Amino acid sequence: MIEATLPLGRIAGVRIGAHWSALVTIGLFTWILGVYLSGSGHGAGLWVTAVAGALLLTASLLAHELAHSILARRKGIRVRGIVLWLLGGVSEIEEEPADPRTDLAVAAAGPATSLAIALVALAAAALSNLITHAGVVTAMLVWLASVNAVLAVFNLLPGAPLDGGRVLRAILWRHSGDRLRAATTAARSGQMIGTILVLLGVAEVLAFGQLGGLWLVLLGWFLRTAAQSELVGAGLRHRLGDTRVRAAMTPNPIAISTQWTLPDLLASPAPHTSHRVFPVVDAAGRPFGVLAWSDLAAIPESQRPTVELATLARKLTPAAIARPDELLSDVMCRVMLRPNLDAIVVVDIAGHLIGLLTTTDLVLAADRSALGLPVAPSARALR
Ligand SMILES: [Zn+2]
Repeated sequence: MIEATLPLGRIAGVRIGAHWSALVTIGLFTWILGVYLSGSGHGAGLWVTAVAGALLLTASLLAHELAHSILARRKGIRVRGIVLWLLGGVSEIEEEPADPRTDLAVAAAGPATSLAIALVALAAAALSNLITHAGVVTAMLVWLASVNAVLAVFNLLPGAPLDGGRVLRAILWRHSGDRLRAATTAARSGQMIGTILVLLGVAEVLAFGQLGGLWLVLLGWFLRTAAQSELVGAGLRHRLGDTRVRAAMTPNPIAISTQWTLPDLLASPAPHTSHRVFPVVDAAGRPFGVLAWSDLAAIPESQRPTVELATLARKLTPAAIARPDELLSDVMCRVMLRPNLDAIVVVDIAGHLIGLLTTTDLVLAADRSALGLPVAPSARALR
């Protein structure tokens, strides 16, 4: 999951944000379009049109993701929001569709929207051509239409996590009734398509000296990685079913309050727990950081009695925060994508700390569920 660095507000109840890398993409779009348009115009007008075209394309990517998210919300699936980044947009859909029909509808909504935008842009280009005769605006609209059409087709390649992979999963799921096998096949197909894209990109660079091939390599590599985590996620989801975070977390964990020094922490019950990482909370009990024993060991001997631990806290990333009713399998996939995440803090709706999920909790939950046991031992007092 990519973290949004710039919140952009909400559309139809869906939170939209952008990661800084989205600016690189808009810049790249502008440059590519500017070069393309130089055949049909020149001067400042060309670059104004190129910027407008790049922004329209970014809006098209957003519309594609919005279609997924809005449809998912309408089907009662929780959506965290949409993040725009280097490779376009990502919908952060927090739950899995309950049946193949919903799966198919949510997946198909994106490419259908891209295709619709392509048709609208094409109609606008025809209209603009009547007025301006092959001007720079017409050329930009044709470009916008073709990129959207290519996007729709690319996204329909039958490998998860591409939309086409989800469509494939939904169809297989409907035919066999076996969701795990359908998801596994779709993810394997995604890995294969990713590999093919990487090879095609490398061939393009080596055989034709086209640096554009690097983009294909990046895209293929990203797809391969994402398909790999789909594969792991499919297995986990199957095993963990609809187990929620609440069932596996350590409730009411020891937290470091503001103004605590090392002696305060050592006098608390913290040393008697098996935890390696402790959340740091503000005066209202809302976590904002974490500290591990290793961070504390790094404090110079002379400062240990006096230094306020909260000032040393490492910032809590959004990926490290979970709600008690989130699916445990989703949180686990998140952790596996970020091996440097040392613990997940669980907060209630007001942001107050109510639990902690350590890597040990997660491994234990996965192992126990593989044996059909409840994810957490019932005697929590022992920990
Ligand atoms: Zn899509």
